[in-house]
Amino acid sequence: MTDTAKVVAVTGASSGIGEATARRLAADGHRVFLGARRTDRLDALTREITAAGGTADFRRLDVTNAADVNSFVSAARERHGRVDVMVNNAGVMPLSPLEALRVEEWDRMIDVNVRGVLYGIAAALPVMRAQGGGHFVNIASVGAYEVVPTAAVYCAGKFAVRAISEGLRQESRDGSIRVTLVSPGVTESELADSIGDPAAREAMKSYRAEALPASAIAEAIAYAVSQPARVDVNEIVVRPAASAQ
Ligand code: NDP
Repeated sequence: MTDTAKVVAVTGASSGIGEATARRLAADGHRVFLGARRTDRLDALTREITAAGGTADFRRLDVTNAADVNSFVSAARERHGRVDVMVNNAGVMPLSPLEALRVEEWDRMIDVNVRGVLYGIAAALPVMRAQGGGHFVNIASVGAYEVVPTAAVYCAGKFAVRAISEGLRQESRDGSIRVTLVSPGVTESELADSIGDPAAREAMKSYRAEALPASAIAEAIAYAVSQPARVDVNEIVVRPAASAQ
């Protein structure tokens, strides 16, 4: 392990971008602590990383539960003595037009995509302050910059993550807390599986035809994490080259 190895907690590490990020950061020598609800996936990923010579642990995590997020971060700190990077990645995207009134899905998006990020900050910020610094990597979306039909609530949540990240950055005037917002365009993952509305699901097929591998987003996260302490990469937007949106 190098002296730049960090302890990195990743939410939503059981698939897609979180899984690719865990793999990539572990390969860079960081100690990853992985959370999601599907522990069978986390168990398999942890074994794979460990077999490849990396350091990984996991804990079941539901980011909609503040106490659970606290326990997750506490477990990472107990295991490794500190938490250097908190990757708030867990997300869902059950798109639908507002007039479909899928209110439970609106709530779920707000609970996971917005409250989940806030709970991650609430859990990790005191730990980072106590240890003298830390780094939040919050995963937003191109939907944090623009709105498209069926995505009003999803985009609202991602706009919120962008606002929260910028606020956190501005409040960290002593420079000890770094904040990076990573906003992917269409990326291969299981995200579109959460779309229940039939029309929105159909529309997404062509929208998502051109997709980045999740490793491309992991690469952007690894870049931000690898910077020296005085360098804060604030925002990274990564789209497929052949994408208009
Ligand atoms: P996936 O569906 O593949 O991964 C989502 C992850 O979030 C899973 O690991 C899932 O784990 C986890 N998750 C969902 N709900 C919860 C919860 N309540 N508690 C804990 N974990 C939860 O999609 P992506 O990898 O694409 O999504 C990762 C992030 O990237 C999201 O924030 C998404 O909005 C964002 N993004 C993705 C884009 C894309 O095109 N793929 C584009 C723009 C942004 P589990 O179900 O096991 O709990």
